[in-house]
Amino acid sequence: MNTLIEELIETQSPTSSRSEVTAGCEAPAPTGRPPRPAWIEIDVARWRQNFALLKRDMPSGLQLLAVVKDEAYGHSATVAARLAIEAGAKFLAVSTVDEAMKLRDAGIRARILLLGDRQEAELPWCVAHDLTCCVSEPRIAEQLGQLAARAGKRVSVHLKINTGMNRYGVRWNEALPLAEKIVTSKSLLLEGALSHFAQSDELEKTFALLQLSRFNEVIHALAMQGVALTFRHVCNSGGYLDLPQAHFDMVRMGILPLGVFPSSVCRRIPGIAAVMSVKARIAAIQHLQPGDHVGYGMRYTATAPRRIAVLPIGYGDGFPRVRNAGCALIRGCRAPIIGGVAMDALTVDITDIPPAQLWDEAVLMGRQGDDEISVHEVARLKNSASYDVLCSWRGRLPRIYLNDERVA
Ligand SMILES: *Cc1c(COP(=O)(O)O)cnc(C)c1O
Repeated sequence: MNTLIEELIETQSPTSSRSEVTAGCEAPAPTGRPPRPAWIEIDVARWRQNFALLKRDMPSGLQLLAVVKDEAYGHSATVAARLAIEAGAKFLAVSTVDEAMKLRDAGIRARILLLGDRQEAELPWCVAHDLTCCVSEPRIAEQLGQLAARAGKRVSVHLKINTGMNRYGVRWNEALPLAEKIVTSKSLLLEGALSHFAQSDELEKTFALLQLSRFNEVIHALAMQGVALTFRHVCNSGGYLDLPQAHFDMVRMGILPLGVFPSSVCRRIPGIAAVMSVKARIAAIQHLQPGDHVGYGMRYTATAPRRIAVLPIGYGDGFPRVRNAGCALIRGCRAPIIGGVAMDALTVDITDIPPAQLWDEAVLMGRQGDDEISVHEVARLKNSASYDVLCSWRGRLPRIYLNDERVA
């Protein structure tokens, strides 16, 4: 190979220990394909550390259900599942049968809870592949019971109780007849009961406490009737952090193991850090004269000579489509985004970063040097929440898994 090309590839290749390029979320790229100069890094060692810190923070006896829906918020459901199981998670949870089957196909045999309600057509599949369903209505309980009987199985279900979110679940004051229907079916096992908070990561907890008291009403009534539940669970990450009186037997955590706190006001666990970073390399540099414009719609006009860098990443990759807002970290400094973000590119002002040069690494989300562009900072750019930012990065950005020392 020509040494110039070797050198170019060298400058573009990773410095830390990378493995499994594009594992998990995407079909793996054929090896040897040149890397795209825009990518997502997932720090697996930090992710594992987050699980360890969480386990240390959790009261003993409290079980963990790891929510890995939507590819673990864009991080890879299979890697998330592996780390969660390693950390002792009792259950995984996803939102669709497809998501669950992807885990089964990857050889994951752990218990999987399907969040939300199921269509009748999905039930035979759930019974065949041991996917645990939430039950909100008598008809689904009946059908599951019949399918289980036909398969010669006793199928576990979790009773979904609507305590005020009004999305899924049987209304709390109508839950007992449904519970009884499940309990009296010989082929069903009422293994769990759950509810979901409409508000758990804000300072204001009045409604969450009302929901909790409604859930407790049902739980107490069931206990009076001698119904023993193994898994009572209502907390998501916010509930786990701030509502210890609502922990019950198990907590459902999605965002927290990823190192992102659900809000800016919830309790902090020291050491927990975001595992996802988004990076790109400077692909072109332009020197502007006063009066020069940048990008579609000429949304930026230089008032003095400026040096600007083009980063080959845009809203087609999930970056918010902002204009003259936000920034990238380059050589540890903040380079403001100028002009509008395009589908495949955005431009930043590097006039105040003289050492910046072609193919330098820029961080759009994550740490560089002493500075960090947090998930919450990106969320503010699009007037949205951290959850949305994590889930919005598109599949065409390769995911690179760093420091993935598998335990045998
Ligand atoms: C997504 C989801 C969770 C996880 O929420 P986090 O805030 O990410 O921990 C828990 N429970 C249900 C029902 C969910 O839909």
